Amino acid sequence: MPARVLRSTRPGGTRVGVGPVEIGGPAFVVAAGPCAVESAAQTEGTAEVVAAAGAHLLRGGVFKPRTSPYAFQGLGEPGLSILGRSGARHGLPVVAEVLETSQLASMIDHVDVLQVGARNMQNFALLRALGKVRRPVLLKRGFAATVDEWLLAAEYLLDGGNTQVILCERGIRTFETTTRNTLDLASVALVKQRSHLPVLVDPSHATGLRELVIPMALAAAAAGADGLLVEVHTSPDEALCDGRQALTPELFVELMQRLPAVLQAVGRHLHSRVSTAPAVRAVSP
Ligand code: PEP
Ligand code: MN
Repeated sequence: MPARVLRSTRPGGTRVGVGPVEIGGPAFVVAAGPCAVESAAQTEGTAEVVAAAGAHLLRGGVFKPRTSPYAFQGLGEPGLSILGRSGARHGLPVVAEVLETSQLASMIDHVDVLQVGARNMQNFALLRALGKVRRPVLLKRGFAATVDEWLLAAEYLLDGGNTQVILCERGIRTFETTTRNTLDLASVALVKQRSHLPVLVDPSHATGLRELVIPMALAAAAAGADGLLVEVHTSPDEALCDGRQALTPELFVELMQRLPAVLQAVGRHLHSRVSTAPAVRAVSP
């Protein structure tokens, strides 16, 4: 059974610092951005929108793990500097997925949080390598992984010496095909009790449907998640990847405006603004 991941080893919980952002404290954080970095203009346009709406981190895939080898595989290394520049321009630390250890050297200069995707949750060579880096790791739950397997994957990172680990529930595969995956919110409440590690929820991959992202994001906040990982695109219909689940800028603003009431109901609050961009004015009801 897991040991270092257990809450009994750190009853007060782990807080992971990413620049000005603290994940796992009383404040709720929102990481938002496109599924994939497609171009400098698309990344910058999305960064501007999410920063102005109050996101705390900018996400964007540069190396994409795609089901089909013929689908867009990401921009690769050139995408790293695009993402890093947009994050820096708006004062947002950036999150990007690392697919293999050979990518670490180039990523370390541009990326603040290294994401391990669902398909790689049990890539033990990658986990061992990430245990050695001094950079926060966002560990997604595999879509066929039990909670114990997920926690044991995190144990690899902690055992390697990296204590800056953030978990992310992104839906699991069930008999249900109407949604892309089934969001297992019970696992979030369970893992918060069993482990000291912060837990984010990704309602985008969990549902695959834009219209379900806000309700599930609010439910995640109510269930005790420490934050969200959300896909946003300025023109979802033209997205090279996962457009059907991407929030439009308007919907992302709506999400950010609706979160505080739910958080307040469960004794939490939204993390303070970190972006250097001007705030969007709240739309009056
Ligand atoms: C992603 O967040 O870009 C992603 C590929 O997600 P997952 O690994 O959860 O499918
Ligand atoms: Mn995606």
